[in-house]
Amino acid sequence: MTHSERRAQKLGWWIAAGYRLGEEIDSVTVINLFSDLTSDEHNLSDTRFTSMWNVTAAGKLKESRLARGLMASDEPVYRPCKSGKKCLKFEKRRPAPARGTGAYCATTCGASDRARAKRALAVLPPTPESPRTALGAA
Ligand SMILES: [Zn+2]
Repeated sequence: MTHSERRAQKLGWWIAAGYRLGEEIDSVTVINLFSDLTSDEHNLSDTRFTSMWNVTAAGKLKESRLARGLMASDEPVYRPCKSGKKCLKFEKRRPAPARGTGAYCATTCGASDRARAKRALAVLPPTPESPRTALGAA
């Protein structure tokens, strides 16, 4: 592995860690700063160098930067459909994202959720004080 390959790998590592070209990395100076090899890194074996600058570590740094609010997530914020597990578009073990500013993924999904809520109320067992029980079933 040549030194410029190492520099490229190192720069790629920072990009994988969530430092974006044109944002955090916006000039040749910064590119050089991020990709500059320390004297140790000049002399390391390829294996050692690659294990130091591996994708898993970059992913961990990215997660920690996200958690500390140091960078914006590149994924849109997921707001699940209010129907939850009963969502009509339930997929991959989670409901579809709610559409626009609404609570449901679709108007039909909202309508069937409200219908379910009504049915749930209708099948509630009668309480002991309810007239039906007081009169006796037999
Ligand atoms: Zn839904």
